[in-house]
Amino acid sequence: MRPFTYTRPADPAAAVLAGTVAGAAFLGGGTTLVDLMKLNVMAPTSLVDVSRLSGAAAVEDTPEGLRIAAAARNSDVAAHPLVRQRCPVLSEALLSGASPQIRNMATVGGNLLQRTRCAYFRDVAEPACNKRAPDSGCAARGGWSRMHAILGVSDQCIAAHPSDMNVALAALDAGVYTRGPKGERSIAISEFHTEPGEHPEVESVLEPGELIVGVTLPPTPFAARSAYVKVRDRAAFAFALASAAAALELTGGQIRQARVAIGGASTKPWRCRDVENALVGHAPSRALFRQAAALAVKDARTTPDNAFKIPLVQRTIARALERAAEAA
Ligand SMILES: Cc1cc2nc3c(=O)[nH]c(=O)nc-3n(C[C@H](O)[C@H](O)[C@H](O)COP(=O)(O)OP(=O)(O)OC[C@H]3O[C@@H](n4cnc5c(N)ncnc54)[C@H](O)[C@@H]3O)c2cc1C
Ligand code: SF4
Repeated sequence: MRPFTYTRPADPAAAVLAGTVAGAAFLGGGTTLVDLMKLNVMAPTSLVDVSRLSGAAAVEDTPEGLRIAAAARNSDVAAHPLVRQRCPVLSEALLSGASPQIRNMATVGGNLLQRTRCAYFRDVAEPACNKRAPDSGCAARGGWSRMHAILGVSDQCIAAHPSDMNVALAALDAGVYTRGPKGERSIAISEFHTEPGEHPEVESVLEPGELIVGVTLPPTPFAARSAYVKVRDRAAFAFALASAAAALELTGGQIRQARVAIGGASTKPWRCRDVENALVGHAPSRALFRQAAALAVKDARTTPDNAFKIPLVQRTIARALERAAEAA
């Protein structure tokens, strides 16, 4: 680990100012950042601690929907009665991630920006990683790629986006609101993370020094009937091989609106709009869910190691839809 300075600004304006200094990084719970600093993958020269900034409640009920503070701990959000009642998919996704100790530390802002678990990215002894060292190559192509993505991949990078929470946020049409040197803005979650393309080192549309202040979950008729399914190697403390968040609005026995997003198999939280469109106007059934889920993987690009994710993603989506349909 290299030397760094530490500050804890009193308010968001001071945090943004401190965050614009070259080499600065915001510090949430540190469960990603400090890990990567120890591994010399990330080497900020100053840490700007924003983990105690919010002051206000972790979750607030507003006319625009639920507002979740960026500094809210993952465990507090998962346990919040309004979240459990109005968007169970978010609570389930959070509870499926990491461990209770890590969820007690991890913040919503940090979870939004957690980095990939690609083993080559996390090992500085491996020279070929375009995400860590642009234009150096990609060791995962032709290497160990069982955990890697099959959707949104590029020739430069096939790393899977690791977050469970962000998959639920994608299904809930969340907005990320920020404050930066140019002022405040709200970014749709679907626009927040970027695909690797030619620049896998860029993972979001955030600008230097731009602070995540919180997340908004708009009131929707589908969020309450929602579910998260995660498939992993162990029942706890493991990242997703594939996961799916599903939300349904049912009227008169038919699906009026659907939201489906997947994780563990894509380079960013992945909305499956073709699947959603195939569901609308039909009565929910296992056969319909299976048929629609097949559309999610039509553009998949696999490696010999991760081709098993094609059927896995379809089954995971179908199961999440079944669970959402069964929800009261
Ligand atoms: C052993 C282990 C197992 C895990 N398993 C899972 C799992 O199964 N599923 C899952 O989803 N996650 C898992 N995680 C990851 C965990 O969820 C993340 O590490 C955590 O959510 C990151 O939050 P944090 O507050 O600790 O972020 P930090 O480590 O503090 O920061 C992460 C990044 O976000 C930036 N940042 C932080 N706050 C802000 C802000 N307000 N504005 C702008 N930038 C900000 C930081 O600069 C940094 O780049 C696991 C982690 C560990 C260590
Ligand atoms: S998949 Fe991406 S993160 Fe992993 S080695 Fe290749 S470029 Fe690096």
